[in-house]
Amino acid sequence: MTRVLDTAEGFVQDALAGFAAVHGDLVRRVDGGVVRADPLPPGRTAVVVGGGSGHYPAFAGVVGAGLATGAVCGNIFTSPSAGQAYRVASAADAGGGVLFSYGNYAGDVLHFGAAQERLRAEGIDARTLLVTDDIASAPADRIDDRRGIAGDFVVFKVAGAAAERGDSLDEVERLAIAANHRTRTLGVAFGGCTFPGADGPLFTVPDGMMSVGLGIHGEPGIRDVPMGSAAEIAEILVSELLADVPEDRGDRVAVLVNGLGTVKYEELFVLYGQVAARLGQAGLTVVEPECGELVTSLDMAGVSVTLFWLTEELEELWRAPAYTPAYRKGRVERHSSPGGSDNVGVAARPDTTNPDPERSVSEPITTVSPASVERADRTLVLLAAMQATLHEHEDELGRIDAIAGDGDHGVGMRRGIDAALDAATAARDSGLSAALRAAGEGWSEIAGGTSGALWGAALTSLAPALDRDDVTAVQVAAAARAALDTVVRLGRAKVGDKTMVDALVPYVERLEAAAAAGLPPAAALAAAAEDATAAARATSELRPALGRARPLAERSLGHPDAGATSLALVLTAIAQTGITQTSITRTEGRTP
Ligand code: ADP
Ligand code: MG
Repeated sequence: MTRVLDTAEGFVQDALAGFAAVHGDLVRRVDGGVVRADPLPPGRTAVVVGGGSGHYPAFAGVVGAGLATGAVCGNIFTSPSAGQAYRVASAADAGGGVLFSYGNYAGDVLHFGAAQERLRAEGIDARTLLVTDDIASAPADRIDDRRGIAGDFVVFKVAGAAAERGDSLDEVERLAIAANHRTRTLGVAFGGCTFPGADGPLFTVPDGMMSVGLGIHGEPGIRDVPMGSAAEIAEILVSELLADVPEDRGDRVAVLVNGLGTVKYEELFVLYGQVAARLGQAGLTVVEPECGELVTSLDMAGVSVTLFWLTEELEELWRAPAYTPAYRKGRVERHSSPGGSDNVGVAARPDTTNPDPERSVSEPITTVSPASVERADRTLVLLAAMQATLHEHEDELGRIDAIAGDGDHGVGMRRGIDAALDAATAARDSGLSAALRAAGEGWSEIAGGTSGALWGAALTSLAPALDRDDVTAVQVAAAARAALDTVVRLGRAKVGDKTMVDALVPYVERLEAAAAAGLPPAAALAAAAEDATAAARATSELRPALGRARPLAERSLGHPDAGATSLALVLTAIAQTGITQTSITRTEGRTP
């Protein structure tokens, strides 16, 4: 549990502020995360890493010479927003382009992907390397589906060292791909971790057991086995890692023994001894091992072992010096400009520490019709109804998500709707389209996570069908269809993958059928919400095919999908407001 805190809500920002105060000589805070305090020489490649918080020293602790240029810092275990990733990358870029690197999680892929598009649109070359080292999360023939865990550190180290010596973006990307391809991790958990402010852990491991194949977001392992000695733990981890190697592995290997949060360093050293002995017996030479906390999971009790199969060029980068708040190796020279003096001749960077808070709602000036403002007001009532139900069910949604996921869905939805309602209220004078766009941006920015990106985009997509004078049940169905199309375009989920799409598809279909049959809109919304609720419940029978829950597919059987459940709650609340009835019949009353 977290004992030292002021508020759970402010924990991440308070920790980041203290971190930046301690390490002000090495890192500089920007909106969304941190970047190196000493700007890169012009033209150098920037390596921007990141993800949710709760993994220290990942990600802010590895920003510095020879490692990352910047780190994007989301909420606990929640992907940062696209806006955060964009702002950190903009601050980090020195004209040589940006390599984003982070663990392979759906929410991060959505948000960092959107940031990458935005940078490219501005002419900044941006690429992405997803870390996929966790051998427990998918079989070797689906290696690209694997999650990123402690291997993050290896890939960041290699990319950062390559960038430090002046390699081009092409080259840094090539080396990062090679490093990821040759990095494999497996871990065991002895106990779960507890969110700051929460009173219980996200999962527990049965007494006398340990859970093999842990994740770093409080995801439990994929199989429980009897608790073993250090030698037995090493045996399990090393034997499985040696059975899952890149072709052409060679016989030189870097090793990471990583503590997840509450395993003592002495215990890690005991484990290292057993691991190294087994690698030696297998005829391997261990090169510059690391043993300590490199990628943690709050206060999780667990350890992981990473093998990084070296080539000559990767070994050089692995051994290269680095100087960051949490990781220091060898001796690092300060940057010199061609003229010889330190930190001179660096292009001025835009100041991103004080972003314009109005930005998300500033739009080209257009005339706003009073009717659109009135529609915005009615939408605020709907958003308030959504807010009430999401607050009421926050804990329950978190618990459902924790069964096979990371437990953040309740918090994420609550933060999302709060931000959306605030932003829509501020934008209300600009009419419904502006209010929905502001709501969507606010949601995505604050909630993070997969669902944050999808809900944000879906809200924005409702505007064309709803911000018009002739809204009938047909338009309401069209709006729901637009939201579905958006969610599917971004998230690529199909019916049966155990996501919110499983509840949204029957909802849209029922609305369309009801509209075609001429049903009154209120009745159509109520019937469709019932279908969505039944469909959400029926996701209990499914195995997840996407997202964080996928590696724990079996564990999720018998439990509904968190995102489908929250969607059904929201749709039910909307159907029950009565405002939909008034608003739709009133607008219908005006149509000829
Ligand atoms: P995260 O998975 O990033 O922790 P949340 O916990 O907030 O995000 O949301 C999880 C929910 O998001 C899942 O229960 C599922 O309904 C939904 N989801 C995950 N991936 C997708 C996807 N690709 N398409 C649609 N919905 C998805
Ligand atoms: Mg989640």
